[in-house]
Amino acid sequence: MQQNTNERRIRDIVIVGGGTAGWMTAAAMSKLLGGQYHVRLIESDEISTVGVGEATIPQIKLFNQALGIDEDDFLRETQGTFKLGIQFVDWGRLGENYIHTFGSIGLDMGLVEFHHYWLKLHQAGLAPDFGAYSLAAVAAPQNKFMRAIDAGNSPISHIAHAFQFDAGLYARFLRKFAEARGVVRTEGKVADVILREGDGFVDAVTMENGERYQADLFIDCSGFRGLLIEGALKTGYEDWTHWLPCDRALAVPCESRGAITPYTRATARTAGWQWRIPLQHRIGNGHVYSSRFISDDEACAQLMSNLDGAPLAEPKPLRFVTGKRNKIWNRNVVAIGLSSGFMEPLESTSIHLIQSSIARLMSFFPDRDFNQDNIDEFNRQAHFEVDRIRDFLILHYNATTRDDTPFWNYCRTMEVPETLKQKMDLFKQHGRFYREKDEMFASVSWLQVMLGQGIMPQSYHPLVDLVPQQQVEAHLHAIKTVVENCVQKMPNHEEFIAAHCRAA
Ligand code: FAD
Repeated sequence: MQQNTNERRIRDIVIVGGGTAGWMTAAAMSKLLGGQYHVRLIESDEISTVGVGEATIPQIKLFNQALGIDEDDFLRETQGTFKLGIQFVDWGRLGENYIHTFGSIGLDMGLVEFHHYWLKLHQAGLAPDFGAYSLAAVAAPQNKFMRAIDAGNSPISHIAHAFQFDAGLYARFLRKFAEARGVVRTEGKVADVILREGDGFVDAVTMENGERYQADLFIDCSGFRGLLIEGALKTGYEDWTHWLPCDRALAVPCESRGAITPYTRATARTAGWQWRIPLQHRIGNGHVYSSRFISDDEACAQLMSNLDGAPLAEPKPLRFVTGKRNKIWNRNVVAIGLSSGFMEPLESTSIHLIQSSIARLMSFFPDRDFNQDNIDEFNRQAHFEVDRIRDFLILHYNATTRDDTPFWNYCRTMEVPETLKQKMDLFKQHGRFYREKDEMFASVSWLQVMLGQGIMPQSYHPLVDLVPQQQVEAHLHAIKTVVENCVQKMPNHEEFIAAHCRAA
């Protein structure tokens, strides 16, 4: 006889791991599951979290909003700053840089997208770089920032921002939030994972002190080690090192010097790249590199000789294998965070992937039957999302003219996934894109990175010629002027922080 829904309902959930992934999941569950489930989070103070200073993409605002977290409180608690985009230095060619900003650029006219009109004029030498038509790209280097306000057609209405913040402080903030809403935290090390006989589902985890925690659903947020998803369930991992060859990082905070920039910087180095993420009280830095092409000592020397101010700690080494878990959800275990895979932090996507896994888990929330079709669809969507992000990251490495080091020669000449090749080939011809439904990065992101990395289409969309050239010139000129005028009136980033969200 079929049990009714209530009898099949999941009652106990155990989250293993209390890094950003664990506490984001716990906080979301404490808010969204209406207190109807017992949620326990197990973490060990002896096993540190990754938590380097981190950059995000705008979607994190939706996560905070869903939890009812005030944006200014969040920034105060995490020493956060605003982010309009990422500046890429020396990627396409040594000595060049571009900004990949959030939000829209230009204003469409006629039948086709704005960038085609720009392409026509640019190719005729009548228009400056694409960034001149982006409010964020003009504002960021001048350290200007404001939130979007409703100003009709003005680009001020379309400012899209994300944040740069201390992920360790964010986890602490979310811990308070989750515990206040009933999540039980258990301190200690998980020593063993017990599988059920028959179906091989996880039955319980046992702690070093002998305690045992049983649950219906387990969330593996144990970081790279993937204690449940890999350690116990042997789910397997798809290695992407041949496409994303960086496999180590060194992270070090340093003193701030100069203005707090409203953007993250990614500077290409000889065998990887260096990040610079300004927070209110310090700057987070790190060197992501490929151990096949550079020694740890040399990577460290490059990092330490390229800091704005004095280092505030010893560089922290991290090792990883780029790729994804074969199944993100296996039996009654869902991997969220680094346990599900890692694609390196080039476009600040990891925290977003945590957030989208949580949202997807809510959409496909199981009962104790753990319907396999439900799990399969969850995995299909999760794979689609990370595969397309992977392609976007590979683009940065592959689309380069750099031939000054063996690392860049490898990246420039490597075979790329067919899905990426198709996008690049299509763009190279007429500057066109196709964006599959549910792909995370919008066409405007692909556009900025393709152009920034030096891919210039051979031609523009033929329908552009339907609009008289003088009209196109006037349209572009007007947009550029409006952008410049708006930026002039925008406040300074630091003043904006001081007025709204300065940490105590
Ligand atoms: P972790 O932080 O590793 O946490 C793992 C948790 O599991 C810890 O609490 C630990 O105590 C617990 N644990 C493990 N084993 C046990 C056990 N046996 N018993 C009990 N507890 C256990 N993301 C971005 O969005 N933007 C960025 O700019 C960015 N930069 C990054 C730079 C680098 C070099 C790296 C490596 C990552 C970066 N990320 C970035 C990714 C981001 O740091 C992670 O996605 C995020 O911190 C989530 O980590 P996590 O919670 O999955 O794992």
